[in-house]
Amino acid sequence: MYEFAVAPAVTNLRRRGVEITEVVPDSIAAELELEAGDRVFRVNGRPVRDYLDFRFETGGETDLVMEVRKKNGEDWELQIERDEGEDFGLGFEQIVPRQCANECIFCFCKGNPEDARPSLFVRDEDIRLSFLYGNYTTLTSISEDEMRRIVEQRLTPQYVSVHATDLKVRAHLLGVDEKRADISDKIDRLLDAGIEIHAQVVLCPEINDGEVLSRTIDDLAALHPRVSSVAVVPLGLTRYNKDARLTPVTREFCQRTIREITPLQIEFRQRLGTTFAFLGDEIYLRAGRAIPTRKHYGDYPQIEDGIGMVRSFKSEVAALLRKIKRNYPGRNKLSQLNGTVMTGLLFAPVLKKVLDGMNESFGTALNVVAVENNYFGGDVSVAGLLTGGDFVSAAGEIRGNFVIIPGSAIKSDEDVMLDGMTLTELGSKLHQTVIPMDFKAFANMMINADFKSLRV
Ligand code: SF4
Repeated sequence: MYEFAVAPAVTNLRRRGVEITEVVPDSIAAELELEAGDRVFRVNGRPVRDYLDFRFETGGETDLVMEVRKKNGEDWELQIERDEGEDFGLGFEQIVPRQCANECIFCFCKGNPEDARPSLFVRDEDIRLSFLYGNYTTLTSISEDEMRRIVEQRLTPQYVSVHATDLKVRAHLLGVDEKRADISDKIDRLLDAGIEIHAQVVLCPEINDGEVLSRTIDDLAALHPRVSSVAVVPLGLTRYNKDARLTPVTREFCQRTIREITPLQIEFRQRLGTTFAFLGDEIYLRAGRAIPTRKHYGDYPQIEDGIGMVRSFKSEVAALLRKIKRNYPGRNKLSQLNGTVMTGLLFAPVLKKVLDGMNESFGTALNVVAVENNYFGGDVSVAGLLTGGDFVSAAGEIRGNFVIIPGSAIKSDEDVMLDGMTLTELGSKLHQTVIPMDFKAFANMMINADFKSLRV
């Protein structure tokens, strides 16, 4: 079931303009009697398609003409004067992602169970989301309009899935013909216009590894500093992806990849002043190798792609421990913390080491449970893809009087997990208080000794 598959990357089916979803009381927008449900469709005669357009067209303007279609169907033309930098007080609808027109052999959508939530089948490929959130696009079906928009609105940086600079290999991976796979002109055009690019390679054993990978990295390094980094992340297979063209990633494969790429990284650091080609944390963890140092990651250019998360976590923990030691020379307040933290198989050993250290230093009783992903199966071991059913399967290992699960396992706008189980349902199945929490929130709670959110 691929509801959105092979839809064009650009569609004109959307309604004109951008919908207002919020008007701040006493703001310019409120004074103008704008309301949620109205649509802004032009500013100073220029069409507005989404809130990025609105931001671009209004930025720095103090006198403007805004054309609005009210929700009752009336068209208004508003003459607006505002002070420099004065906010309109408007909130807008989210961007509806464009869909890709590829058939990547490793596409995550192909690894979903058939009854997975429709949102898991969305194949987004959107230069706006790339700019805003670091989502990767392949640029294979980008329109001229979108190319111009990146340059005109300075939507930089852009995150581009290159996968391989060898055209045949790239076309094979993306499931498109070589003409479409060839994005060299587009990349040149963006770079020449001063747009920064971060690249990505999804590493598929026996397809774009070895020589192909080294060449891809070298070709991209030749474009440094305009191409500022490359993320190399391993193929992830679930039990539903049965494509015979794909070979699973093994421990030996990860070890070999580290052996092959480390000399390039050393050379780049000497020559370019940056590691440039970063391997995904998963590659080090699965290889059983130490995560590189803080210096290796520089300013973490690929953190949105999960690269350097473990190192950054360890640095945060070190800072947290120093703060707690300063604030709590005694053990009294923290020793009441007696509960379980659930996470994915991959991260569990890292977390366990940290929490064992805290238990020893501060008298807490924090227990780590490594949860297997039965929902997707295969080699999916990251925390954010765990489901309610997975947490329930590990219930026997829970200790203490609360359970923390990864915040990333919960939908951003609703207390529900990927298998549709709600947080309340999970709590009643586990007979526990369940709190979704990321490490930052956990750290703040410890530093402030504010355990209200644990409801213990
Ligand atoms: S991996 Fe990305 S680009 Fe490829 S088919 Fe899936 S959504 Fe599209």
